[in-house]
Amino acid sequence: MATALTFDPVTLPPAAEALRSEVRQFVAETLGNEHRRNSDFGASHDPEFSRALGQRGWIGMTWPTKYGGGGRSFFERYVMTEELLAAGAPVGAHWIADRQSGPLLLRYGTEAQREFFLPKIIAGECFFSIGMSEPDSGSDLASVRTTATPVEGGWLVNGTKLWSSGAHRNHYMITLVRTPTESESRHAGLSQLIVDLRNSSGLTVRPITNLAGDAEFNEVVFEDCFVPADRLVGEPGNGWEQVTSELGYERSGPERFLSAFRVFVELLREVGPKPTDHQAAVLGRMAAHMMTLRNMSISVAGMLESNRNPVVEAALVKELGNNFEREVPEIARLVAPGGGSALFRQTLEDTILHAPSFTIRGGTREILRGMIARGLGLR
Ligand SMILES: Cc1cc2nc3c(=O)[nH]c(=O)nc-3n(C[C@H](O)[C@H](O)[C@H](O)COP(=O)(O)OP(=O)(O)OC[C@H]3O[C@@H](n4cnc5c(N)ncnc54)[C@H](O)[C@@H]3O)c2cc1C
Repeated sequence: MATALTFDPVTLPPAAEALRSEVRQFVAETLGNEHRRNSDFGASHDPEFSRALGQRGWIGMTWPTKYGGGGRSFFERYVMTEELLAAGAPVGAHWIADRQSGPLLLRYGTEAQREFFLPKIIAGECFFSIGMSEPDSGSDLASVRTTATPVEGGWLVNGTKLWSSGAHRNHYMITLVRTPTESESRHAGLSQLIVDLRNSSGLTVRPITNLAGDAEFNEVVFEDCFVPADRLVGEPGNGWEQVTSELGYERSGPERFLSAFRVFVELLREVGPKPTDHQAAVLGRMAAHMMTLRNMSISVAGMLESNRNPVVEAALVKELGNNFEREVPEIARLVAPGGGSALFRQTLEDTILHAPSFTIRGGTREILRGMIARGLGLR
């Protein structure tokens, strides 16, 4: 029987709206008022900016105060991330640690892990990567082959991770590995280890250049890489549950529909105050799509705020959002009058080069659609 997905309408509370002007002012003061190039969270890395955010209390905003977190709501976090992305601020360094590694440790980590890692993340001084995908395991994540064998005092890891964003610059990578199990289930025997990317022997990180010419992601090779026992997250064999618990955080935020936002802004500037009827209709449709996606994403923030795990709703936000952000540069190319200003062209060209990845990173279209169909009871 088909089930409905419910996105309750949510109005942002006054505390969240108050934060908006604070973030805008901070961005203007810190980055200057010049227009940022693009809003793609994965395309930037600026540890100094991350530290400045940390000093304002804008990393780990929703985490408990006992670890130095802000104890604030997911709505406030939503507004803060939305404003930073809209401004094209360089948020890439701390993004993964703030979005999902910290919440994972809060849920499954040991007290010692929380006390060690969370304050550093919150200060904007400790950055994390995600080590899930492998050369033959992307969509079918349960087929990962990297192994962790128990040895005296820890684990020996062997295998290869692929497309690990930022692993050449970050401090740690939460790595999905196969640990010994009696069970024949593909989901059993998966575990997560925190790998020190800077101080491990038997570890090689090789940057891979993306379409835009940037070193963004990596191949990470483990050859008898020792990981101490206290770097296991949660119980051995519980990795599948843990990895899937990250998805609500990973897939629902404004970074899933705002990656091309600067193109939209510059396009509006290009078209100016007297659009043709065709331009007005196209721009209006884009704005309406964006506002709908925004309402859905805020609604998911509300679900996270009430401790729900909105994996299917997040998949829907990502799927619709990624399609939208891929369309923006295509539409801009057709609608813009003439060649456009240098800034418009630069923003557009940069986004065109990054856009193919929007519907691949964090789960492909086909996989998300399968999840949504299952969530609706259609599969
Ligand atoms: C910019 C970028 C950053 C990334 N960062 C990270 C990262 O930090 N950490 C990390 O672990 N991974 C990362 N990835 C990897 C990403 O998660 C995978 O690329 C993605 O999950 C797809 O896996 P794959 O590349 O192995 O493709 P495949 O899984 O081989 O898929 C190839 C094609 O087949 C389709 N397909 C596969 N299975 C099915 C099916 N059952 N039904 C229908 N169609 C199917 C897919 O939709 C896709 O179109 C990143 C990727 C990109 C592009």
